[in-house]
Amino acid sequence: DTIGDNLDRTAARFPDGEALVDRAQGLRYTWSEFVAEVDALALGLLDLGIVKGDRVGIWAPNCAQWTLLQYATAKVGAILVNINPAYRTHELEFVLNQAGVRLLVAARSFKTSQYAEMIAQVRPDCAGLETVIITDSPEWSALFVAGDVSRVRAVQAELSTDDAINIQYTSGTTGFPKGATLSHHNILNNGYFVGRLCGYTEVDRVCIPVPFYHCFGMVMGNLACSSSGATMVIPAPGFDPELTLEAVAEERCTSLYGVPTMFIAELALPDVESYDVSALRTGIMAGSPCPVEVMKQVVERFGMTEVSICYGMTETSPVSTQTRADDSLDRRVSTVGRTMPHLESKVIDPETGLTVPRGTPGELCTRGYSVMLGYWEQADKTAEVIDRARWMHTGDLAVMDDEGYVNITGRIKDMVIRGGENVYPREIEEFLYTHPDILDAQVIGVPDQRYGEELMAWVRLRDGVSELTAEQVREFATGKLAHYKIPRYVHVVEEFPMTVTGKVRKVEMRASAVELLG
Ligand code: ATP
Ligand code: MG
Repeated sequence: DTIGDNLDRTAARFPDGEALVDRAQGLRYTWSEFVAEVDALALGLLDLGIVKGDRVGIWAPNCAQWTLLQYATAKVGAILVNINPAYRTHELEFVLNQAGVRLLVAARSFKTSQYAEMIAQVRPDCAGLETVIITDSPEWSALFVAGDVSRVRAVQAELSTDDAINIQYTSGTTGFPKGATLSHHNILNNGYFVGRLCGYTEVDRVCIPVPFYHCFGMVMGNLACSSSGATMVIPAPGFDPELTLEAVAEERCTSLYGVPTMFIAELALPDVESYDVSALRTGIMAGSPCPVEVMKQVVERFGMTEVSICYGMTETSPVSTQTRADDSLDRRVSTVGRTMPHLESKVIDPETGLTVPRGTPGELCTRGYSVMLGYWEQADKTAEVIDRARWMHTGDLAVMDDEGYVNITGRIKDMVIRGGENVYPREIEEFLYTHPDILDAQVIGVPDQRYGEELMAWVRLRDGVSELTAEQVREFATGKLAHYKIPRYVHVVEEFPMTVTGKVRKVEMRASAVELLG
């Protein structure tokens, strides 16, 4: 099936089931209403002259319009180009030109970002950009064409599941984002299996505060729902911990998604206990290392007894490994689970390329249906990460145990080598979370004359705590951590530098640390 065919099938099975709830706009659709809107929008795209393979950009925070466009482009075979809501003119211009966007659909503004104005600024430099449509304008409404749906069906029938359907730029955690090009086959299957491992059926209601512009929202969220009949619930356009829990309570959500920092923010709300989250059964934490403490709290305080951790990357649609509800609680909070159905994983020595014995750290590689077609018009970059046997080299360090459970120990680029000892920041971060004053911790390597690198911890403190010195951390860690793993420097901050997907940008931290240390 293509994404459009799969959607039609769901709508035929559950015509009156709820498909989508957009709380901020007060919009609700059943599956039959949703498909009718998608078909009308697909007709509008055809009338605009959009044909298979054309790139259609979407620049908006989470909203119903985003989702409708996601499915309408899939129906006509256009390639949706997700544009990060946090971008500014420079990045916008880059993406519009790099992907060759013909039609751009955008929100007028989001928070302090005036999208419409920024688009007007870059437009003279984007020769290929023919049409811009703002989602709260009459032009957008006019795109919904009541007409002969058989025209859409005819186009749909000509599509192949291997067609490129989506260009998704990576989060830019480690540098400039790259445009992963994904097919129907890549992302529909991944969404389907994520939903299946979460046990979704038409009675599930999934609260999606993670951005649609990223796979976590549009694949693990939207496609997992549309392939199972579960309801997509959009709590708010951007992430807001209060609105998220309010949506969980009022919509009786059975599943809640988030990157670790989102769950940390929700759990830290002073009135967290006042939200009725009793309908929650499951959910997904993913995107960056999921601290054991946070996982435990999600299970205990939110009652998400079947919660999963997923591991993956944009280049693999995204999920490669996932914990299952029947894994032991210990494994569900402390590993990223086992390889997804129909995918392969291996852990290699990055130097030799040979598979390492179980229990030995190395680079995780993924192979199978989920591996992207390639980076959009960057064949050289693609060749750096996908080898001739079609293995995607993730750049992540992992350990796989005898039963196939995977632990992510960090990114190859983040590993710190202190005086010849390999230190995995992740391990130190996990340890720091056990300190009563620490709310959130990140560890980086900073240059050091004597040891090559030294460890620096950046910490966010709990409410009411104003200071934490390196001395105090040393005292706390002595006897519990090997001496070379104890951070030499401790830097207290209010916030970490973040990507919009909620990932900590360690590159930026390292740059500031070098300045801090003068
Ligand atoms: P860029 O490639 O542009 O630097 P990015 O790698 O952060 O950015 P994404 O594709 O959004 O872009 O993120 C994938 C990465 O996120 C993985 O390679 C991994 O490092 C990290 N990650 C995802 N899920 C987990 C998880 N459950 N545990 C640990 N790390 C994770
Ligand atoms: Mg990456």
